[in-house]
Amino acid sequence: TSSLERTDPAMAKVLRDEEIRQRTKLELIASENFVSDAVRIAQGSVLTNKYAEGYPGRRYYGGCEHVDVAESLAQERAKALFQCRYANVQPHSGSQANMAVYFALLQPGDTIMGMDLRQGGHLTHGSPVSFSGRLFRVVSYGVHPDTETIDFDQMIRLAQEHRPKLIIAGASAYPRLIDFARFRHICDEIGAYLMVDMAHIAGLVAAGLHPNPLPHAHAVTSTTHKTLRGPRGGLILSDNLELGKKLDSQIFPGIQGGPLMHVIAAKAVAFHEALQPAFKEYQQRIVDNCKALASALMNLGYRLVSGGTDNHLMLVDLRNKGITGKAAEEALDRAGITVNKNSIPFDPQKPNIASGIRIGTAAVTTRGMEPSHMLLIADFIHQALNAVDNESRLAELKRHVAAFCHQFPLNAWAGDGAHD
Ligand code: PLP
Repeated sequence: TSSLERTDPAMAKVLRDEEIRQRTKLELIASENFVSDAVRIAQGSVLTNKYAEGYPGRRYYGGCEHVDVAESLAQERAKALFQCRYANVQPHSGSQANMAVYFALLQPGDTIMGMDLRQGGHLTHGSPVSFSGRLFRVVSYGVHPDTETIDFDQMIRLAQEHRPKLIIAGASAYPRLIDFARFRHICDEIGAYLMVDMAHIAGLVAAGLHPNPLPHAHAVTSTTHKTLRGPRGGLILSDNLELGKKLDSQIFPGIQGGPLMHVIAAKAVAFHEALQPAFKEYQQRIVDNCKALASALMNLGYRLVSGGTDNHLMLVDLRNKGITGKAAEEALDRAGITVNKNSIPFDPQKPNIASGIRIGTAAVTTRGMEPSHMLLIADFIHQALNAVDNESRLAELKRHVAAFCHQFPLNAWAGDGAHD
């Protein structure tokens, strides 16, 4: 038995149960992935014991000679991966990366413009329930009702009327490529900064499968745990070294204390993995799988927001099926398929009910699934959604899904299950 079993059997059971859940269910949440053994080893390491306030070479604590190497490696690899001159790898999360950029560029009360949460944006892009909506005046842009792609005409109108000091490009539920050059053009016209939050698509950007925002944005933020397949955490990038100094001081001491050196080491490992040729193939497979799953679902009569996908995710509009997003999420979960309910643009339902589900292929692609398997996944989804009130059918499907998942052992990629 492991030391965790002996010390804390209750928590050891939680970890075992969660590992079984991850092994036996189909993970289709667009923001999740399975990290490598190497990433988990770094994250579960002695580096968690170290205080290192400050930055490499200028710390407020002694004994930082090794963690300095870890952080410098993470910075250099991030810069190489995204082709830029400045990287801060300390943000504990994507939300904190965004907060630091706002604090570096804005004063409380300034106007920001971000994508509406209900049309694909993130909470930190100006939602009233987030610090971003509480500290700043917010103007939201959205998608056009016909195309369900970003409505640039509306954005230009709003930008000229409200003169935001910062425009935020990037989304949590947007299935199409984002034209960063066009955003920058609008920013230049009104004298605004451009921040790109590439959290969802960072892996695609690293692989050259989505345009890189760095040439266009004043600052780029990301999470490291979605398509990028690193540990949970945040990242800030820029080409402007002067702005970089401000960003550094807004992360520490501005909003954070000691950096999580074990997470930073794990980020460095993930960036190293992302710099290998195999990562490009992995990202290409994510996109191929997403297209295959999207067309299989459309062939089964499902309407996809914007009519398809260019990236790792799709939004399924369930209104023509007479099921809400909430009911679909619950039925799919009982069938061993994990997704999240999601508002669709102009959704008539409340956000906690929603008319759609969001589906992503980053995690199943890590497991080794390929486009041919996406047909089977579409069929599982279809069968579950046709049986939302049929418990025995959903339970039967769950067994089929588990047998299918068994063909793609997680330990081939994500470790041997030892947690101590
Ligand atoms: N930005 C975008 C576009 C996201 O989708 C997310 C996560 O969902 C975040 C930021 C926030 O990241 P975190 O959950 O690490 O705070």
